[in-house]
Amino acid sequence: MSFESLGLSPALLRATSERAYLEPTAIQAQAIPAALRGMDVLGCAQTGSGKTAAFALPILQRLADTRRDRPRRVHALILVPTRELAAQVGDTFRHLAQYLPEPLKIAVLFGGVSINPQMMGLRGGADIVVATPGRLLDLVEHNALRLGDVQTLVLDEADRLLDLGFADELARVLEELPARRQNLFFSATFPPAVQGLADHLLRDPVRIEVEAEPETQPDILQRAIEVDTAKRTPLLRHLIKEQGWTRVLVFVATKYATELVTHKLSLAGIHAQAFHGELSQGARTQVLSDFKASRLQVVVATDVAARGIDVARLPAVVNYDLPRSAVDYTHRIGRTGRAGQSGVAISFITPDAEAHFRLIEKRQGLRVPREQIPGFEPVEVAAPVADVNGGIKGKRPSKKDKLRAAAARGGSSST
Ligand code: AMP
Repeated sequence: MSFESLGLSPALLRATSERAYLEPTAIQAQAIPAALRGMDVLGCAQTGSGKTAAFALPILQRLADTRRDRPRRVHALILVPTRELAAQVGDTFRHLAQYLPEPLKIAVLFGGVSINPQMMGLRGGADIVVATPGRLLDLVEHNALRLGDVQTLVLDEADRLLDLGFADELARVLEELPARRQNLFFSATFPPAVQGLADHLLRDPVRIEVEAEPETQPDILQRAIEVDTAKRTPLLRHLIKEQGWTRVLVFVATKYATELVTHKLSLAGIHAQAFHGELSQGARTQVLSDFKASRLQVVVATDVAARGIDVARLPAVVNYDLPRSAVDYTHRIGRTGRAGQSGVAISFITPDAEAHFRLIEKRQGLRVPREQIPGFEPVEVAAPVADVNGGIKGKRPSKKDKLRAAAARGGSSST
């Protein structure tokens, strides 16, 4: 299968070949022809599957063919959950659109920065808008743009849009759109709320599921290392050194932890930066560009960063703290092994986190063998958890505790 056979214009083919897209990924091969025909698409696609180009290419082609009628009228609207993803999707559109005979205006809109430059930028209209829902609504309320001419709506990472509490904003944006339009819906997971939204939005969609296809499955080695809470930073330092990672994205639970872990790594001479939602947009952009350019070895991030960071050839992701949900786990580990590259995703499993990780494994339908690293074997025992009846869970030694005790006495500790 080649890009030529998908019916794309020479200008778009030139742009794909310049981006070194040799052949379409599975989602592109299926979504592009359907979207070019004007059909709705329901894509169940993991991060790294090439889904951005799967919707950007047909949108650009259709716009290039028809736009002359009503230029600068927001014909395509792409809703995304985070600013980073907005910037990234906007970049992809710009790259792919660069050789079109008539330039298209692409506006990228997100919160956390002053609204005025975005309002100025929208003067004279835009053909394509990539936006987070809250800022988009602000701009609509300021009459900076109208959405009555939207022909194609994309919901990118729909599961995350709902996770981040954008359901109300989404409903309000939908009210602004014409009823007759094309809908392209992409999500990595389909819990009931996401499925409900898809059912509500889509008309006879072409369903595309690419997870199971080996050629598009990112090659991610998942590892789970048992370690005590207090030994996680030394273990991280050990792994960075031993594995020779040029870059690693480390996930922690809180903004405070991003700063603490960054500080400890810096003390050890490792070039690290914190990345969390309270940084200014300028600071976030700086960290990402330093990381992409390999001027920075480690980024310690909260889940805010889990979406939308697309760093080519990121060799490793570490879950220093486990994510809250299985969905977040998928998104976090999707930051490595992108676009056919291999990568490793390591989760630190403290005794207290074991039960939670098992739940994540169950939801994912996977089992990651537990490992211990010599010198970092855990000795902590999970803290007892009071159950609803007032009793104490975890009071009796678990199977794992018994195995650990056996290990301490010289027996086997593998689980
Ligand atoms: P996405 O899933 O859209 O975030 O894309 C993940 C990565 O794959 C990005 O770095 C894209 O530039 C890259 N990519 C997208 N399509 C292709 C393709 N056909 N061949 C190679 N790389 C691609």
